[in-house]
Amino acid sequence: MLPLAELDHRYLWHPFTQMRDWLKHKPIVIVEGKGAVLQDAQDREYLDANSSIWTNLHGHNHPRINAAIRRQLHKIAHSSALGFANEPASLLAEKLIKAANPRALAQPPLRKVFFSDDGSTAMEVALKLAYEFTRRTGRSRKPKFLSLQGAYHGDTVGAVALGHIDLFHKAYSGLLFKTDRVMAPYCYRCPFNRARPERADARDYRKCNWECVGKIEQKFAAQKQKGNPYAAFVFEPLMQGAAGMIPQPRGWLRRAAEVARGHGALLIADEVMTGFGRTGPSGAPAYCRLPRSEGPKPATCQHSDLPSAAGSAPRREVSEQALASTLFACHHEGVQPDLMALAKGLTAGYLPMAATLTTQAVFDAFLGEYEEFKTFFHGHSFTANQLCSAAALASLDILQSAASVRARQRLAQNLHDALQTLWKSPHIGDIRQAGLIAGIELVRDWRTREPFDLRQRAGIRVCDALAKRGVLTRPVGNVVVLMPPYCTTPEQVRRMVSTFAEAVAVLAFR
Ligand code: PMP
Repeated sequence: MLPLAELDHRYLWHPFTQMRDWLKHKPIVIVEGKGAVLQDAQDREYLDANSSIWTNLHGHNHPRINAAIRRQLHKIAHSSALGFANEPASLLAEKLIKAANPRALAQPPLRKVFFSDDGSTAMEVALKLAYEFTRRTGRSRKPKFLSLQGAYHGDTVGAVALGHIDLFHKAYSGLLFKTDRVMAPYCYRCPFNRARPERADARDYRKCNWECVGKIEQKFAAQKQKGNPYAAFVFEPLMQGAAGMIPQPRGWLRRAAEVARGHGALLIADEVMTGFGRTGPSGAPAYCRLPRSEGPKPATCQHSDLPSAAGSAPRREVSEQALASTLFACHHEGVQPDLMALAKGLTAGYLPMAATLTTQAVFDAFLGEYEEFKTFFHGHSFTANQLCSAAALASLDILQSAASVRARQRLAQNLHDALQTLWKSPHIGDIRQAGLIAGIELVRDWRTREPFDLRQRAGIRVCDALAKRGVLTRPVGNVVVLMPPYCTTPEQVRRMVSTFAEAVAVLAFR
C-alpha cells in the first residue's frame, strides 16, 4: 500500500462514506489535476465526471484563477470581516449583485451579500434571516418553512431541518425543528404521470395536470387556515441534486413561485449546485424538450405552454444582460428569490466560500440603534476571505466571457447528444439533463421502471467500474451523475458516456 493511502486509512474519516467498505480497498489518491483530468499518486489519469462533487467550473489548475490567487497571496491571505472591509470581497459583492439581477426580471432586486463558508452555512444564513425577518415584520411569531420532498440543503442542523431525505436526516430528528414537506416534481416516478415509459426524458412525454403544483397550493391554503401562513418556500431550482438529480419540468418553478408569492411567503432559492451556469446558458438545451437525435418520435406533451426546444436555436450574439440572466437556475424561469444561497462553484470549485444574497427589505429589518440589538448576530472566522474572493472574481470574469458562454452551450449539446446513445440499455430508465448536469437512473427493466434494491448498490458498482476505466463520479442511490467541468472537450464527454455504457453492460444486472 502507498504511504499516502495508508495514512488516509489510518487517520481519515470520509464524508457520506461507509468506512468499513472504505477500509477494504486502497483509495485513489489524487495528487494533480489539469482541465477535466485528475491524476493519482500512481500516475493514472481519470476524467473528473462530477466536477469534484459539483464544484469545479472551468477545470483544474486554471491559469487565470491560479494567477488571481497568487496575486492576492502576495498582498494578504486573510483578514477578518468582523470590523474590517477588504478589497476583493467588496469587488466580488458588487459583481455578484450585478450578475444576480438581470434587467429582465421585474421583481425586488437582490441587493446585499452575506458571505460564509459552504453551501450548508449559506442556507443557515438564509434560514435565520428569513426567520427573523418574518418575526420582525409581524407576519408570524413562529415562522414555519415549506420545502420539497427529497430536499437537501446541507448538513448543519438548520439546513438538515429543511431537508427531507430520511436516509440522511431521520437519525437526527431529535435535534431538528419541524418543517413541512410538499410533493416535488419527479416526472419519471410521479404517481400522477399517466404516461407509459418511453425511451426519453420523462418530462418530455409525461401526462399530468400539474397535480404537483396543486399540492403546493393545498399546503399553503391549509397552513393559512391554521392562522400561521408559511414564512418561506425553500427549493433547489430546476434540479434537485442529492434527491437523485431530479429535474423540474419547464414551468413548474414559475408556477410554484407564483403560489408561494400569492400567499406572501419569501422565496429561498438554494443555488448551491445549480448556480454559476451549471444549468446551462440560454440557447443551450436547458431542461425540457431536448432535440432528440434518435429514439421514437416525441409524444405530444400535454402542456400547451411549453416553449419549443431551445437546443436547436441558432447561436445568438450574447449581450451582457443575457449573460447575467443565465448564471442562476431560477432566472431561467423568470423567478427572483428573496434569498439566494451560493457556494460550490462560487470560487470555481477552488476554495470553500459561500454567499447568501438578499433584498433591501430583509437587510433593513436588521437595522436599528446599537442598543436595540437588531444586529444579525451571525458570522464565521473566514467570512469574506480574500483568497476565496480573488478566485471567485477570476471565475466570474471567465464565466461572463462570450467564449465561456459558447463553450457551455456546446458542452450542453455534446452531453445531450452523447447521452442519447444510452437509451439502448434496458437498465437505463431515465436520462435527465439540465444544462450541464445529467442524472441517469438505473433500473432493473426500463419497461416497468422497476428499481434496483438499494442493497444491490447498482449505482456504486457502476461508479466503481467507471473508476477502473478512468472516469470518476459518485452515484446518488441508483442515479449516476455526469456533471463535467465546463472545459471538458467533446471527445472527453463521449468517453465519459461510452465508458458509462460499458460499465453498465459489464455489470450485466440481473
Ligand atoms: N445545497 C445543495 C443543493 C447541495 O447540493 C449541497 C451539497 N451537495 C448543499 C446545499 C450543501 O453544501 P456544502 O456541502 O458545501 O455544505
